[in-house]
Amino acid sequence: MKIGFIGLGNMGAPMAANLAAAGHQVVGFDTAAPMPQGVTQATTAAEAASGADVVITMLPNGQILRAVAAEVIPAMRQGAILCDCSTVDVDSARAVASDAAAAGLGAVDAPVSGGIGGAQGGTLTFMVGGADADFATVQPLFDIMGQKAVHCGDAGAGQAAKICNNMILGVTMIATCEAFALADKLGLDRQKMFDVVSTSSGYSWSMNAYCPAPGVGPKSPADNDYTPGFAAELMLKDLNLAHQAADSARADTPMGQLARDLYERFVEDEDGRGRDFSAMLPRFVKRNG
Ligand code: NAD
Repeated sequence: MKIGFIGLGNMGAPMAANLAAAGHQVVGFDTAAPMPQGVTQATTAAEAASGADVVITMLPNGQILRAVAAEVIPAMRQGAILCDCSTVDVDSARAVASDAAAAGLGAVDAPVSGGIGGAQGGTLTFMVGGADADFATVQPLFDIMGQKAVHCGDAGAGQAAKICNNMILGVTMIATCEAFALADKLGLDRQKMFDVVSTSSGYSWSMNAYCPAPGVGPKSPADNDYTPGFAAELMLKDLNLAHQAADSARADTPMGQLARDLYERFVEDEDGRGRDFSAMLPRFVKRNG
């Protein structure tokens, strides 16, 4: 396929490189980042999009996505598909899909989980919203960039799945970290705590796969002085999106709200910026109730 790829940062660059390595013709555009191997540079987003079968965007937020979409939609050929892989608010995802449809284009929102490692290794999970036919067209590309693509429903459903998942992740990480800090104060050995919880009803991905305690469980950012991994400010971004979605859908999400407030304090007022989101553990250890 001929692919336009816009936004070649930490995630977009390896995703585009994997598509090029698989034999697709990839034309890229980024306002700052260099082109990865195998990707031809365009001088504007519209140039990258013109003539493409699929245009993929991997951008920082919904506002930038809306601006880029306004530029590329008129440049795309009829029947082409706009596939946004960024994490953005549900309203922006739906607005872009509706503008694309009005211009005779297909559109899917396809945010990812798996982080930079998953983007490099081609093992991302895609959560996809959009029409069946559009999903089917883009699926071979998801198969190259990832290991799994779940078609979640209509436009916006991918973003909805992503922010619900990450709201659970933020809440369970905080619960896991505060429980470790409590265990410390009760004199319980961290390894014993892991051995019990990871095989009991308190288990979760945060405990079992990404344990926030250094030297315990599988290797995780905790074993690398909390170098991200998944940075605390990206978790805050996703919790803010969950908060915004809950507000507009009138959903009651008290734990998500509290997780958002804690990550906001951690990133803005404490030493959380630039650290992995599991660095909540040393934060709780330092504090007294
Ligand atoms: P990044 O900041 O490294 O990359 C974004 C890129 O977009 C940058 O290279 C920037 O120059 C470019 N850009 C900004 N405005 C542009 C414009 N108008 N036109 C063209 N290019 C423009 O961010 P990232 O870590 O690659 O994340 C991208 C998206 O993926 C975000 O929405 C993020 O929330 C999501 N995400 C990130 C991770 C992660 O671990 N990094 C995991 C899952 C999802």
